[in-house]
Amino acid sequence: MENHQMIYRSTRGSHITATPSGAILQGLAPDGGLFVPDRIPEYPGTLDRLTQQSYKEVALEVMGLFLTDYTKEELKHCIDSAYDSKFDIPEITRLKEADGVWYLELFHGATIAFKDMALSILPHLMTTAAKKNGVTDEIVILTATSGDTGKAAMAGFADVPGTKIIVFYPKGGVSAVQEKQMVTQRGKNVHVAGINGNFDDAQTAVKNIFGDAKMKEKMARAGKRFSSANSINIGRLVPQIVYYFYAYGQLAKAGRIQTGDSINVVVPTGNFGNILASYYAKRMGLPIGKLICASNENRVLVDFFHTGVYDRNRDFILTTSPSMDILISSNLERLVYAAAGEDAAATLGLMQRLSGEGVYEIPEQMRRTLQAFYADCASQQQTSDEIRRVYNAAGYVIDPHTAVASDVCRRYQEQSKDRKATVIASTASPYKFARTVVTAIRPELAGQSDFELIDALKEISGVRIPQAVEDIRTAPVLHDTVIDAADMEDEIARWLGI
Ligand SMILES: *Cc1c(COP(=O)(O)O)cnc(C)c1O
Repeated sequence: MENHQMIYRSTRGSHITATPSGAILQGLAPDGGLFVPDRIPEYPGTLDRLTQQSYKEVALEVMGLFLTDYTKEELKHCIDSAYDSKFDIPEITRLKEADGVWYLELFHGATIAFKDMALSILPHLMTTAAKKNGVTDEIVILTATSGDTGKAAMAGFADVPGTKIIVFYPKGGVSAVQEKQMVTQRGKNVHVAGINGNFDDAQTAVKNIFGDAKMKEKMARAGKRFSSANSINIGRLVPQIVYYFYAYGQLAKAGRIQTGDSINVVVPTGNFGNILASYYAKRMGLPIGKLICASNENRVLVDFFHTGVYDRNRDFILTTSPSMDILISSNLERLVYAAAGEDAAATLGLMQRLSGEGVYEIPEQMRRTLQAFYADCASQQQTSDEIRRVYNAAGYVIDPHTAVASDVCRRYQEQSKDRKATVIASTASPYKFARTVVTAIRPELAGQSDFELIDALKEISGVRIPQAVEDIRTAPVLHDTVIDAADMEDEIARWLGI
């Protein structure tokens, strides 16, 4: 591990700094900015060595470059505690070739979405950070979810001593399985509430509560402090860089690429965390050609990459890929900061325009730094067609989020004739979205119940039903709170008894 200590700075004020463990504890920077590393470390290993390493070995090496104030023993302990039998395959993630592209299956964790890749380790990183920093306050994780973060964060933090977790999800804006997974969550330290509103309403309210000085004081008096499990927390982002390195090593190991060859990466994108991790991997020296950003009908990012204008003033569309139903894509702020040459004042100005008028435009010289990105979107019809097409071509069933990426990928390949080996981030098990997936392949089954469709999916795919889905068939509903977004702060105070 390197001796150089990494410093994290706020995207909105470079004088605001934190150690890696301090940044993880805080989640959001105190000025409302996002913590970013003061430089992107170069990957010191050889690509050949990657082919020999297990997921955990790659994780130790890559995460150690960013989390420099954790000892190797501390990091190893966090990694061993996270990537264990909670995952249903010993390799943690794997590549599946189907119809000429590689689907990187990131959904083998406890809640069958890619959020588990980071949220299984975040509680360990955070409790280690608290110890290192002499923090004795109870850590209250406050999370807005578009469907998958909430469950994965609760599963990670349930009954972790010294922590509580509160999750807000858009009532009516998540899939049946996603909602059932959340409202059946056990654990004395977990609370979940639906809100009348969409994901952006929940995420904005959470950010405002983080920034509320009075609330902070109230919390401090009660011996508590907030932190975040959303991908605004650098402790979410760093573990996601790992699997791009691991995937590259596995492709080379299988002889599908020569070490040194560039690959393309396609990421179904919502809050821009996953694709940002691939961008960091590229900047660390991993040979990635295009970073392909795939959106659903909420195509705010596609328009941004095409025009340089970010405009959230548009209708919020509920789609069949709900975890990407987002108009305020938080992590884009980290890319904007990089594109602005790490100019925090310029980033602050743009973000103030976003929260004021809901729109900002980046200048031409910033746009030029984003040329590695390609962006396109898929409609709900195209998504459904792609699920059926991949199934008919390869007998492989993908979830709707992955299908958005897959559809964008095929059209990119046709138009560009770019034939580089391509990895598509496969972000959820199709079982999490059984209704959408089964009716795409067998429309005549639309009348069946959600659990009948899950059984039908088993027949269609030949893939066994994940434990996470079996668990919710009979699990009792433990949470039924539904509130307005405006009442979130009161709900938090009530539940915490402060
Ligand atoms: C969260 C999520 C996404 C979007 O990932 P971001 O990092 O927010 O861009 C895509 N697909 C699924 C299934 C998700 O849960």
